[in-house]
Amino acid sequence: MNAEQKHHLKHIDRTVVWHPFTQMQDYAREEPVVIARGEGVYLEDIDGNRYLDGFSSMWCNVHGHRVAEIDRAICNQLDRVAHSTLLGLSNIPAIQLAAKLVQLAPSGLERVFYSDSGATAVEIALKMAFQYWQQCENPRSQKTAFLHLTESYHGDTVGAVSIGGIAHFHRLYRPLLFSAIAAPAPHPYRCEHCRGSCDKTCFDALEQTIAEHAHRLAALIVEPLVQGAGGMFMHPPGYLKRAADLCRKHGVLLIADEVATGFGRTGTMFACERESVAPDLLCLGKGLTGGYLPLAATLATDEIYNAFLGDYADMKTFFHGHTYTGNPLGCAAALATLEKFETDRTLEKLQSKIAHLADQLARFRTLKHVGDVRQTGFIAALELISNRASKTPYPFEDRIGHRVCDIARQNGLLIRPLVNTIVLMPPYAISKREIDHMLDIVFSAIQTVTEGDAQ
Ligand code: PMP
Repeated sequence: MNAEQKHHLKHIDRTVVWHPFTQMQDYAREEPVVIARGEGVYLEDIDGNRYLDGFSSMWCNVHGHRVAEIDRAICNQLDRVAHSTLLGLSNIPAIQLAAKLVQLAPSGLERVFYSDSGATAVEIALKMAFQYWQQCENPRSQKTAFLHLTESYHGDTVGAVSIGGIAHFHRLYRPLLFSAIAAPAPHPYRCEHCRGSCDKTCFDALEQTIAEHAHRLAALIVEPLVQGAGGMFMHPPGYLKRAADLCRKHGVLLIADEVATGFGRTGTMFACERESVAPDLLCLGKGLTGGYLPLAATLATDEIYNAFLGDYADMKTFFHGHTYTGNPLGCAAALATLEKFETDRTLEKLQSKIAHLADQLARFRTLKHVGDVRQTGFIAALELISNRASKTPYPFEDRIGHRVCDIARQNGLLIRPLVNTIVLMPPYAISKREIDHMLDIVFSAIQTVTEGDAQ
């Protein structure tokens, strides 16, 4: 590609493409990074700059880019058929993948409903939970409400936003949304209950909310262990288990949104495993295809599935579907991704990388504007604060996280902040040397932005 072609591409990108979660006024002023290729944990732009993919291309890449086995699986499927619908038909990889997911998922999840993004997986879970109570054996028509945690994030479609709790993303849309009930998110660094000492009063707050509203609650939806987009809140141990027990006790369904935490991100295949929790509905996306193709799935128990059975005229059918539901290319990519977990013993090898990341993160605590260093599995977050003692955040408009990530990018690392929190979530294929390199870049970028030098 010559200089003129590159220039033209960037011009069209600035003037035609509307980027997600992006203030286009700023974007149009900046030099766009146009990715041309990838290899392993690296991405390369059209100018030949190489970047470490420190955010797994928005938390979805697993084994790296251009993985031979996944590439091959997609090509092989392409030789057969690229797409055929699941509405009234089936296809080979969709069947095989469903069996595999049921085998891997927490016990009791026996039915797989496909869609194409994390948000649709969540919409489906919400509608299933709602409809379940309308037509289960002992219908409870008043159970129509949903409980979520503050600062929760479950996607950007209107239903998913209704149970979202991130004020600066979600507030504007309030008039469009159905009302939901929020319980306070447990967040040890900024806990409104125990202020860091973690006396687990947040558990009591959840219990009170569930007990008070159980008669009208269809389900509680949670991001297990780690609330991602809200700022990488890492829940105290036992919180998920307690939530599951409370749901069971009060007759409320539990929806586990493992779109971000699923497929090994927290160190086990699913975060629910860490607390021996088996939800009623499980939402999967992102890493399902290794970060290759848009595919998602909502898994349900037989108890829920059976409530949708009946005579045709009973209208108990789940009236929901998407054009690309169960897309064969996506399912083939997912099967290859899951197979690679086994052949490469990915999760076993990941454990020492998780420990290495933990060791190497320790030095960030010496930086005076890093208020909190937190990690769960292969998710690390560094919360930047203007004053450590008072935990005062930097003002939103300072774009401190963005500035750190900008410098990191100039030094060959792609990461995306959550306001003032720097998130590190590389593909599992990253080596320990590459982890060190990633952390060196982040360390000096934080120093440069918050202390004005990189010494
Ligand atoms: N749920 C969670 C927990 C997520 O982190 C995300 C995406 N970051 C979603 C749902 C939405 O997924 P998608 O962007 O694929 O719609």
